[in-house]
Amino acid sequence: MPSRRTSPPRPRASLIFGDLWEFDPAPETADPKLKPRYDLFIGGRFVAPRTGRYFDSVNPANERKIAEIALAGEADVDAAYAAAARAFGPWSALPGRERGKYLYRIARLLQDRAREFAVAETIDGGKPIRESRDFDVPMAAAHFFYHAGWADKLAYVAPGAAVSPLGVVGQVIPWNFPLLMLAWKLAPALAMGNCVVLKPAETTSITALKLAEILQDAGLPPGVVNFVTGAADTGAAVMGHPGAAKVAFTGSTEVGKRIMRQLAGTDTRMTMELGGKAANIVFDDAPIEQAVEGIVNGIFFNQGHVCCAGSRLLVHEPVADAVIAKLKNRLRVLRVGDPLDKNTDLGAINSAEQLSRIRRLVAAGVREGAVLYQPPCSLPGKGFYFPPTLFTRVTQSHRIAREEIFGPVLSILTFRTVDEAIEKANNTPYGLSAGVWTDKGSRILRMSTELKAGVVWANTFNRFDPASPFGGYKESGFGREGGRQGLLDYARLS
Ligand code: NAP
Ligand code: MG
Repeated sequence: MPSRRTSPPRPRASLIFGDLWEFDPAPETADPKLKPRYDLFIGGRFVAPRTGRYFDSVNPANERKIAEIALAGEADVDAAYAAAARAFGPWSALPGRERGKYLYRIARLLQDRAREFAVAETIDGGKPIRESRDFDVPMAAAHFFYHAGWADKLAYVAPGAAVSPLGVVGQVIPWNFPLLMLAWKLAPALAMGNCVVLKPAETTSITALKLAEILQDAGLPPGVVNFVTGAADTGAAVMGHPGAAKVAFTGSTEVGKRIMRQLAGTDTRMTMELGGKAANIVFDDAPIEQAVEGIVNGIFFNQGHVCCAGSRLLVHEPVADAVIAKLKNRLRVLRVGDPLDKNTDLGAINSAEQLSRIRRLVAAGVREGAVLYQPPCSLPGKGFYFPPTLFTRVTQSHRIAREEIFGPVLSILTFRTVDEAIEKANNTPYGLSAGVWTDKGSRILRMSTELKAGVVWANTFNRFDPASPFGGYKESGFGREGGRQGLLDYARLS
């Protein structure tokens, strides 16, 4: 097909079939309806922080400031917990079907404003618009719908036991799926009758504050949900607050451990959704083309900023060369660049800090003797970008095989037997997810039993459903989000 370019050429962001094809820009143009400044959301209102301080939220695709976000201090976190405590009595006393109505309303209002939220998510965090539009926002709405459905059926969550809410719950979330992680946290807590104080990540607070507008429009009683924005100190204040009956954290294992030390000796309940270093295992009888798509999706979805990313490819020796050759071809046609372009496959890395972490670990991979492959690809001059990257000749002892890179970097190892694949896959402190590609059902069953991972995907990867519990083993954390099990983590049983 000849080039259809009509507008002046933009800087080349990617290569299609070598140098033959170039796509026209296809920017998403919906208005994200951003405010220049966002205050805290406490007691149903937007309030200025008592610290008097604000920090910038930046678009990682071009390093431009997009809004100012309030910096919450301890007094603000206290105020949020006080508002939540006041709201808890009446909220938990509502019949479940009434709480469910609020959750349905939130879900529908989010669907109404889906495009606007998708653009806001992409501008604030750097993920491709295709993903925020087709995954993050619809999945967030799905979590509210799913838990709305549970709200009047709580008697069936734990047959034989009565369930009741815990009280005020403190929640802290990361920057990789800002709105979706928020929905994972809010929906079950609210359905069960808890009230919430939540801190989004410093680099991606905007969709939480836009959701606060929806909570107002839905008429959610003041104080049921409170958002306090800020960085690590604000997070520590939310997690360590004496008013929290339970804390729920999603983020790195390192910070999770710090919170566990902070709360040791208290009776605050905890759930931890932490890091991962998933093995994606391809056997020689797998449908190879399909597996290659699954490998690409497993590691390049959301620039690899995914806790359950398939960041270690374990490939059966007889098909290793073929799989690697196909992967290299596939990488050459991935489009890296403007996250707002509907054709973009890999958007911006979330922050300068994350980009330097990726660069550090990739340099360690080269230094330790793994072989690097990056397709020819020119990156935009401004903003934080990293090309899709493969490492071959990786061994178990390499840092790139052991540490979570949280970027578009795949470490490839090989194996000869099923036992060796299981041994290598489990040889990690993490245990969040794994993938298995094979034609043999019996092998899938064996692998899913022996892999120490909270989720095992077979002949697919990165599939999610609100009805399916998600969570880790070992240093990937404890507790589940989604499904009946996720609700139980917000309930007292008697
Ligand atoms: P992070 O550095 O651990 O931060 C997570 C959240 O904790 C952020 O809101 C952060 O605030 C806050 N925080 C930092 N220090 C804190 C402290 N001392 N006390 C309380 N809160 C504190 O992780 P991240 O870099 O944002 O996210 C990436 C990590 O999240 C990866 O390891 C990934 O695997 C994990 N993750 C896990 C899951 C899962 O379901 N298992 C899902 C998504 C992500 P600031 O960012 O504002 O400083
Ligand atoms: Mg930002």
